[in-house]
Amino acid sequence: MADPPPAEHDLPPVLISEEAIVQRVAELAGQISSDYAQAGEIVLVGVLKGAFIFLADLARRLTIERRVEFIALSSYPSGARSGAVRLLMDMRCDIRGRHVLVVEDIVDTGSTLRYLLDMLGAREPASLRCCALVRKKERLRSEVEIRYLGFDIPDRWVVGYGLDYRERYRTLPYIGIMDTSEEDGPQDG
Ligand code: 5GP
Repeated sequence: MADPPPAEHDLPPVLISEEAIVQRVAELAGQISSDYAQAGEIVLVGVLKGAFIFLADLARRLTIERRVEFIALSSYPSGARSGAVRLLMDMRCDIRGRHVLVVEDIVDTGSTLRYLLDMLGAREPASLRCCALVRKKERLRSEVEIRYLGFDIPDRWVVGYGLDYRERYRTLPYIGIMDTSEEDGPQDG
């Protein structure tokens, strides 16, 4: 059976409030809609699992033609396997000649996004950009351009709005801080 929802006293402290997220998502959607106004259609590629809530909210606020796809990756964010990324689930859509916008929940070292952009770039889309809700700027190691960014955050483990700690807290409406140390080993977004 699934874990029960966290008790109120167990809720992580707020880093980014629900109101701030709603407002920023609306701003990003407005910017993306205007930038792609002439594009015809864009393909939103959400990275599971963490991006599912951000993508759902963002996609519904866009005013342009869009198609929604998902991809799943496994990564090793720390320790000896650092930087290793593996494709767990590909999308069905052929993106050659299409405008692709990768939608990420969080960019930490950037290796997951680097892997994804290289992989999707090889499929020859008409354009390829990234939209990320949060970025840990001081942790970034890979060269990646995030064209649309929600928030820069400090180097803390964050949960909520799609992000988890051991599969908990994903459905919190805000982003909170979870004080824990990351563990070595595979993590499925
Ligand atoms: P990367 O280092 O490749 O940019 O990020 C690897 C992955 O680690 C992210 O896609 C995400 O799944 C996970 N991750 C990194 N930092 C956090 C965090 O603060 N909270 C959560 N829930 N996941 C994180």
